Amino acid sequence: MLEKMETDYLVVGTGAVGMAFVDTLLDESNATIVMVDNHHQPGGHWNDAYSFVRLHQPSHFYGVASTPLGSMRIDETGINKGYFELATGNEVQSYFEKVMRERFLPSGRVRYFPMCEWQSSEAGITRFTNSLSDKKYEVSVSQKVVDTTYFNTTVPSRHKRAYDVADGVACVTPNQLPLTAEKFDSYCIVGAGKTAMDVGIWLLGSGAQSDSISWACPRHSWLLNREVVQGHEKFFFESMNCITEQLAAIAHAKDVDQLFEDLEACGFLLRIHRDRTPSMFHYAVISKGEIEQLRKISKLIENGRVSAIEQEQLLMQDGSRVPMPANTLYIDCTASAVNFTDSKLKPIFEPGLITPQATQVPNPCFSAAMAAFVEANYPNDEARNKACRPIPLPDNPTGWLTSQLGNMMNQGAFNRDPILKKWVASCRLDAFGRVSRGVKPYHLKKIAVLTRLRKNIKPAVVNLKQLIDKYNTAA
Ligand SMILES: Cc1cc2nc3c(=O)[nH]c(=O)nc-3n(C[C@H](O)[C@H](O)[C@H](O)COP(=O)(O)OP(=O)(O)OC[C@H]3O[C@@H](n4cnc5c(N)ncnc54)[C@H](O)[C@@H]3O)c2cc1C
Repeated sequence: MLEKMETDYLVVGTGAVGMAFVDTLLDESNATIVMVDNHHQPGGHWNDAYSFVRLHQPSHFYGVASTPLGSMRIDETGINKGYFELATGNEVQSYFEKVMRERFLPSGRVRYFPMCEWQSSEAGITRFTNSLSDKKYEVSVSQKVVDTTYFNTTVPSRHKRAYDVADGVACVTPNQLPLTAEKFDSYCIVGAGKTAMDVGIWLLGSGAQSDSISWACPRHSWLLNREVVQGHEKFFFESMNCITEQLAAIAHAKDVDQLFEDLEACGFLLRIHRDRTPSMFHYAVISKGEIEQLRKISKLIENGRVSAIEQEQLLMQDGSRVPMPANTLYIDCTASAVNFTDSKLKPIFEPGLITPQATQVPNPCFSAAMAAFVEANYPNDEARNKACRPIPLPDNPTGWLTSQLGNMMNQGAFNRDPILKKWVASCRLDAFGRVSRGVKPYHLKKIAVLTRLRKNIKPAVVNLKQLIDKYNTAA
């Protein structure tokens, strides 16, 4: 069975990026839009998440621009106490489902095709197929295809493990952990990222003894201190003093290792183990309370990646073997989430194609909304690409230099472009800009902080460029 139709835009993916893009395009144009996704409901990878997942940034600047997520509540209990609420995975899912049901579909301009696999987009024709019926669709797209699958976000429940697991060994995803944990005497977390940290915190919070947990952690990570990324005027002094010191540290840095220690000293970054030098940086956000919890896990297995899990031992990629207790539950946390190690950039706007990428890191929703605004309001792809320059995602501290420079250059460019500046100022997803924009002439203490901050911008940009050159030459 084949159905043919026509549309202005066809968006592949109804994850956060596709949803944020369409939300803004609806406001900025009269375009018709077809949305295709192989999941059964909007929300992308949040549909596959473990039950105890949460946003790691405050809810109030995540999602689509038109519709707030959460209620600006400050948590009064738990390890996020004192900070803005973090939506649970279920809340994020139902939020996107509601945006689709209450805003997109009633607009009469969006047609949504869940459970459909995108096959190809060539010469203005896009093909996709329903996964339950093999019904085929052929769509004539008059404007552009928007491909939000470029970064290929992966989560443990959907990815393929890169190590072997012997028969009889229990290795589960974090999704299965709450249902399985009680049958085991000890636990081994496999992976180094934010999911592994979530699992450690869940185990400890659910009553597991810290000495029953081991953590195969091939590298350590620098983490953003949640206190300084609240994105709200209530945290003006915490955020802005920290940014000021961050810029001063960048301006004076001679090398990246020292710089990251200075960024830790000014409260921008945290690490779990003060005696380890982290080699990973993925913009994961964490609170000091979570760090305290994770420090209780002292059984770290740090000799590289796991190559196989065998009966009562781990086989590591370097050939070493690590004995493990009988009746251990292994929890696979090795999915990469976003592809940090190979994040190649391309122009966001090309003839017939939009590939949303980060124009403000780490803020995929804001970046996608901005791409839609620019698509609708700029005359051609050359002007659009000039306004919207993609920033690479870092895998490590050296990569952060380039991402940080990209953020600063883009921020400067947005401010110099009156059309963009006005839109950014009105967009709820740009929480950090709003913190400083809310300052009134009579807020003398705040103005003093901003004056110091602004003085540090230029020297920081100059030195960032020098540091990047230094590491590029060395590489
Ligand atoms: C546990 C976790 C927590 C996170 N927390 C935050 C946070 O606090 N803040 C933040 O900014 N970011 C966070 N992120 C990063 C996150 O990746 C982004 O926020 C965002 O959800 C990514 O959305 P996306 O649309 O790019 O990708 P996805 O959610 O993966 O959406 C892409 C969609 O396209 C579909 N698709 C792919 N190929 C096809 C095809 N051929 N045909 C049809 N459909 C297809 C996919 O199934 C998916 O539904 C987190 C990530 C993870 C994994």
